[in-house]
Amino acid sequence: MSSIQISNLNKKYGGFEAIPDLSLDIEDGEFVILVGPSGCGKSTLLRMLAGLESITGGDIRIDGQIVNDMMPRQRDIAMVFQSYALYPHMTVEQNMGFSLKMDKQPKEKIAEQVQRAASILTLEPLLKRKPSQLSGGQRQRVAMGRAIVRDPKVFLFDEPLSNLDAKLRVQMRHEIKALHQRLKSTIVYVTHDQIEALTMADRIVVMDAGKIAQVGAPLDLYDRPANRFVAEFLGSPSMNILEGTLISGALSMTSGASLPLPDVPARDGAQIAVGIRPEHLEVTDGPGDFAGEVEVVEPTGSDTVVVARVGEHALTCGVRGRTDLRPGQPVNLRADPAHLHFFDGGTGDRMAG
Ligand code: ATP
Repeated sequence: MSSIQISNLNKKYGGFEAIPDLSLDIEDGEFVILVGPSGCGKSTLLRMLAGLESITGGDIRIDGQIVNDMMPRQRDIAMVFQSYALYPHMTVEQNMGFSLKMDKQPKEKIAEQVQRAASILTLEPLLKRKPSQLSGGQRQRVAMGRAIVRDPKVFLFDEPLSNLDAKLRVQMRHEIKALHQRLKSTIVYVTHDQIEALTMADRIVVMDAGKIAQVGAPLDLYDRPANRFVAEFLGSPSMNILEGTLISGALSMTSGASLPLPDVPARDGAQIAVGIRPEHLEVTDGPGDFAGEVEVVEPTGSDTVVVARVGEHALTCGVRGRTDLRPGQPVNLRADPAHLHFFDGGTGDRMAG
């Protein structure tokens, strides 16, 4: 058992309130990812869980026990950081066993635990090497190995992949997900990369200015974002947002463009924002909802991203496969009426739809 309950947590740095009042329950064995823009309080929250940062108010419980004033070592938590900070003069084996050695564990137990972690992470052939003889991904795996040997109740990861190149990041994403499936341990993982969050988490916590903007399963958040902040944060390329006034069942925009809405979410005259994911905005040969002009064409190999100028808006469309479209060309765009998102023009909160 290693559940975490965070209740009415508050953190002040002097006069600045980084986290006003945050509550979150994490189940035993859950992989929870904290995401959000820089400065939203992700690392502060993780560091409070680890015991590296004091708590101003509220409680953190691990397995029902309040840990607010416990030292990091007493919490039975292992943390993997962005900079793996391996000891350069020690071998992989010695790096991995170091914390157990400091705990004065018997030699046999250290060897057994290092062997177990090395086998989980397929590090066995590298045990006698020094960190300088390893690739970035291998070093990050050793850093994870150091955490695994301690067999902790909870793993905390603080942007562990941000120093790796794009290809390695993808590979390590798979490895961390597989590791979680094998160990079934509770993981709290911080990243500002929404792709990492969408691909790995059981549940995502999107944070905005020290508050939780939404918590849920990745695709639930993607399909039904609770507000504009979450809608625009998750998804790449980002969701298109069109602001306007609701008039006779259509969104009327200042540019003069109008988008007919199948389900009218509010009364005439309401200020609303309509969200359309790029994959739900297609370039059509027939009549569309908008007439525009191609501004940018970005082939990704499997798909193409087309940005079209429609009045004051640059709308992003995801085109399957390849396209002959060229910048400057006129295009018609059609929004899939079954996949529109409606947000209140004032609060940004999701409306029916
Ligand atoms: P990033 O993705 O850039 O690491 P983050 O979401 O992890 O950001 P935190 O590092 O938790 O954000 O910081 C949250 C807020 O608290 C920020 O406004 C930051 O400036 C502030 N903050 C963090 N540490 C301190 C500190 N020691 N003293 C004062 N303010 C701090």
